[in-house]
Amino acid sequence: MDTYADNSFTAGSQQPVLAPYLPNELITIVVGHLHDDKQALQTCSRIASAWVDPSYRHLFSQIFISVDDPNWLVKLYGDIERYSRLGNYARRLMLWTFKDPNAACIPVCHHIISSILHFAPNIKDITFFGLLFDCKHGAVEHVTHSIELDRMVIRNCLSAGGPIVPLILSNFSTVKTLQIARYSGPTSTASSSRSSHLQIYDFDYDAPAAADILSTISNSPTSFAMSFHDASQIGEFNAFITSTGAEIRQLLLRPMGRLADPISIRGEDFVNLDLSLCKQLQVLRIVALGEYHLDEVIADQSQRMLWDAVAHIVSSSPSGLPVIHLDLTVEAEARDSFERTFQWESMDGTLACRPGLRSVIFTLFVEDTDLELKDEEEVYSSMITKRMHRVAKLGLLDLRLKVTQRIPHDWD
Ligand SMILES: [Zn+2]
Repeated sequence: MDTYADNSFTAGSQQPVLAPYLPNELITIVVGHLHDDKQALQTCSRIASAWVDPSYRHLFSQIFISVDDPNWLVKLYGDIERYSRLGNYARRLMLWTFKDPNAACIPVCHHIISSILHFAPNIKDITFFGLLFDCKHGAVEHVTHSIELDRMVIRNCLSAGGPIVPLILSNFSTVKTLQIARYSGPTSTASSSRSSHLQIYDFDYDAPAAADILSTISNSPTSFAMSFHDASQIGEFNAFITSTGAEIRQLLLRPMGRLADPISIRGEDFVNLDLSLCKQLQVLRIVALGEYHLDEVIADQSQRMLWDAVAHIVSSSPSGLPVIHLDLTVEAEARDSFERTFQWESMDGTLACRPGLRSVIFTLFVEDTDLELKDEEEVYSSMITKRMHRVAKLGLLDLRLKVTQRIPHDWD
């Protein structure tokens, strides 16, 4: 991984030489052409003072640090001190390790992030990958900032010490896009503080239940996506909707139709889902990625469970909702199972009598086969139109078929 720390930059090792005058615009263009040549950028930064800014803007735009090095933080502070205004040039921060978060040397906490942001206040994009979140600073106050962030990604991380993530989030006034995936958070937090000033516009939450995430977000995102891995998440989601869900305009729900052992979520668990409070909802999208199994009985059981979840989600949607997307995957070999197990009757009936519904966009992701796409289209089109005859008659049905190389079994 590329890190700015790899630069063998030694400030003051060469005396700046007087260069012929060039307008700043031209310098910016020249330096811009060299944006991925670190050696050349370092040379440029030593030409004259007018070259420092444009060169540093490329040299130090990203702070990528592997946290495997126990001294990473000390080194970072050293570099910030050594290169004047380094922090001002940083737009992107990535802290990462490919190790198991449990084996991490130094946990990351709100104190550490807050102090990095103090030196690098122009950061717009943050990725945490593989981190262990924990705090060893006890009751030490942490200084919060009010930074507008474009994007934060938390992936493969583990929180061992209570609600660290909400405390990190309290440094921002805006996080336009927040993505949390494969995150293991605390199962209960006694003192979760809500980040009341934080506005998230686009929030994608794809992780098992964690007590420090949804319960601490107090402003409604415009667009919200959530995967359901276990039954307790339905309660977690309902509580979130009740407190902050009224303003959500777009909702994407992904029931995970896995026959995990033991089964952690079932179709009937979704009967408890309540979307009626999402009064502003304009689009509901349900993404159901089926699980293919060689054993026909298990395959059917798995599909039934998934379609049952989809049916419950649709019937809990608020009245007046204009657009419903159903994104379903069908394995090439499992077309018969799909026709057999999908809840055609109840889905057709539920959709046909929904007031305000203008469009049902049915997208089938069919695995790439040697079959002719045209033939496939015809088969599925006639199957769905015939089985969803009431919806089709109302002119609500918009059928799309997408052939994919491989049906995505995971959300990436
Ligand atoms: Zn701390």
